Amino acid sequence: MSDETKAKAIAKWKNFLPRIGYPDKWRDWSGLDIKQGDYYGDVMAAAKFNYQYDLHKIGKATDRQEWSMTPQTVNAVYFSSSNTITFAAAILQPPFFYPNGDDAINYGAIGALIGHEASHGFDDKGSQFDGDGNLANWWTKDDRQKFEIRADRLVQQFNDYAPIKNVPDAHVNGRLTLGENTADLGGLSVAYDALQQALKQNPRPAGEKIGGYTQDQRFFLSWARLWRGSVRDKEELVRLNTDPHPPDSLRAIGAPSNMDAFARAFQCKPGDAMVRSGDKQAKIW
Ligand SMILES: [Zn+2]
Repeated sequence: MSDETKAKAIAKWKNFLPRIGYPDKWRDWSGLDIKQGDYYGDVMAAAKFNYQYDLHKIGKATDRQEWSMTPQTVNAVYFSSSNTITFAAAILQPPFFYPNGDDAINYGAIGALIGHEASHGFDDKGSQFDGDGNLANWWTKDDRQKFEIRADRLVQQFNDYAPIKNVPDAHVNGRLTLGENTADLGGLSVAYDALQQALKQNPRPAGEKIGGYTQDQRFFLSWARLWRGSVRDKEELVRLNTDPHPPDSLRAIGAPSNMDAFARAFQCKPGDAMVRSGDKQAKIW
């Protein structure tokens, strides 16, 4: 990336607004009339109330403190139009964050997710917005081209995955999932670098293993563990066509396959299933 584009990227980064746990300012719900025993009526009343609430935003400045999810939701989100990253209280608990856990575990999970949301500001879509949330091109033509060449490797990687055993022709849509895959790769890479910094500041005993695994191994295991789950084939088929996130099982392995640090941690050799090298290896952020 040229110095010119880099300076704009840093300016955007400086204008990121992190929102952690719960909103500083709570929404005023007065005027919304809810009656016990009238579910349908309540849904209609809430829809009407929210419609008016949204209409009142017209012509006013964007409120960067406004949340669109509840603190009880296990989720995190980036909005390019306000340049904000949000981590609800409910995601700040295991298996994402362990208050007494060691750094490798926490950097591999919540650390990588923080990196993931931040990277959304610089993925295929987020990178088209500036630090004030306006759709604006801040890239030189040459940098944009290089970005797209790198992104295409990630598109190809995910196009090749056919995750449903019984439907071998059903592939992931690498273009649809590019934003999420860019964010996973960027997020996990930056969290790994951050872990190395943290270990420099708070060194662990040389060669230390916890539960039989090194710090680096635990970092990647912690990432993989986030994506445990199971989905029926039919539902997976729908998601392959509609969900901008790739299947969880591929989130566990997709980003690490592009990282030299992963291969080092588990002594993988060139040609192994989770080692992408040469022009197959994707590295964006
Ligand atoms: Zn995401």
